[in-house]
Formats: sequence, C-alpha cells, structure tokens
Amino acid sequence: MRIGIDLGGTKTAGILMAPDGAVIERRRTPTPTSRGYGAICENVCEIVRQLEHAAGQPCRVGIGTPGALFAQTGLMRNSNTTCLNGRALREDLSRMLSRDVRIENDANCFALSEAVDGAAAGARVVFGIIMGTGVGGGIVIDGRIHRGRHHVAGEWGHNVLDPDGPPCYCGRRGCVETLLSGPALHGAYDPGLAARCEDARAVAAEARAGDRDAAKVIERFLDNFGRAVATVVNILDPDVIVIGGGLSNLDELYEQGPTRIARHVFADDFDTPVRRNRFGDSSGVRGAAWLWPGGGG
Ligand SMILES: [Zn+2]
Repeated sequence: MRIGIDLGGTKTAGILMAPDGAVIERRRTPTPTSRGYGAICENVCEIVRQLEHAAGQPCRVGIGTPGALFAQTGLMRNSNTTCLNGRALREDLSRMLSRDVRIENDANCFALSEAVDGAAAGARVVFGIIMGTGVGGGIVIDGRIHRGRHHVAGEWGHNVLDPDGPPCYCGRRGCVETLLSGPALHGAYDPGLAARCEDARAVAAEARAGDRDAAKVIERFLDNFGRAVATVVNILDPDVIVIGGGLSNLDELYEQGPTRIARHVFADDFDTPVRRNRFGDSSGVRGAAWLWPGGGG
C-alpha cells in the first residue's frame, strides 16, 4: 500500500491508498508553519505513522509540495512555504521515517494523478494545468513525470504572454500567471468590474447573465488561454490536457477553450481533448502516493 501526503502552506493532508487506487484512510491537519521546519516535518511523520498503523504494514511514502528539490543539491527551492527552502526535506524525512521517501512538486503530482487513473487515464502524453491562485503545470509521459534538466518542465505559468502586462512576482511582466490565475480574471482585466464582483467566479457568472463588461473580460481571458496553451501544444503536442485548480470549474474553458487553442496551434486539425480533472483537491495526495512504482517517478 502507498501513503500520499500533500504538504501545503496551510494544511497537510494524507491518504492511505490501496494498490487499485482506492482510498482506505484520510488524515488532514493544519500545517504548523509558524512553528518552523522541524514541526512541519514532525507533523508529516505523525500523519504517516497514523496511516501506517491503519494499514497494518509498512508503506511507501510520497510527498507533494509546492516548490521542488534542486537536483544538484537535494535542497528545496521555490516553495511558498518559505521555511522549507534551502532544506534537505527528502533526506530529513527519509531519516525520520527510516525509509526512502519521494518528494515532488504539487503540479507534477496533479498531472500524475490525472494521468494514472484520472481524467487522462490511458493517454501517453498528458499536460496537467493548474489554474487557481497561481498558474502551474506538469507533464507526464508514459505514466512518468517529465521533470526536465532544471525541474521546470511544464511550468508554463511564467511564459511571457504580454511583455507590457502586469508585473509578476518572478520579476517579469505579463506572465501567463498574471493573466490566467483566479485573481487575474477577477482583477487584472477590468478594475471597475472587480469592484462589483466578489471573485473570478462572480465575473464569469455576470458574463453568463449578459453583463457586457464581464463578457468582454471573459472573451479576453479565453483568448489569452488559447494563445498560452497553444505555445505548449506547439512544443509538447500532448494527447490530453487536464485542468485543475479553482478555475477548473469554469465551463467556458471546456466549451470554448479548444477552439481558442486551435486558432493559435500550428496544425489546422487540432483535436486534443481539454478535460476537467477527476479528483479535484485529492489530486495532490493521490499523485504523491503514485510517485512509487506502478505510477511513475
Ligand atoms: Zn512570472
């Protein structure tokens, strides 16, 4: 059996998963970020011990978390749980749990989960997209995560879409993330609309209800989505595109997304399925569990 842990900035979730993918046990606790690195590691170990106790046998452990292990040093970087950065997270948890654990970026875990037995099951090349508070992505080929030389494969969120666009925390301007995240759909296109809509979902609802300003925003958002995804398609040409994150609930992405992508792809017969995720918030823990043989890694 496998244990998958989703180590997030605010909560840590874990599952005990049977070989067929069935979830046998779940645990969920707040991540003790304010108490620092040691407390976060101990919290992960406690969840593993509880799940393993339920399993009644030793389990493989995989962990998904924002950021990534820098291959050359084995240290974490790019995590928004900043106290993990610069730490040898895999080494430390492997020692504490007396076994090898695997650690992977959360967007890669999402893509792996959907590729193994989710919305992209059976597809050879899968591009998993996360569109939520940020924009990320992961690539799975033949059931294995493709990480790339710098562990950034699939990170389309920081491709530049508009050099004159909004500033991004990464130091560039007009990154995909600044135009296709939830906060971007809510506030980057029309500040006046943002003032009277609570969030991105409300903007979409206004557009559907016939509001012309909101409809214009959705129009520009979908056009940007099409252009941004098309740049990935022209390089990777995946068999399936799966969308996760808060914005994956927007029906427009599936109803109109494919034709928007098609306009910008260098092929006049673009027919790649664009699918909603199957596992939602559980993709992180499931992908982490699948990091062990039989499911990639
Ligand atoms: Zn950026």
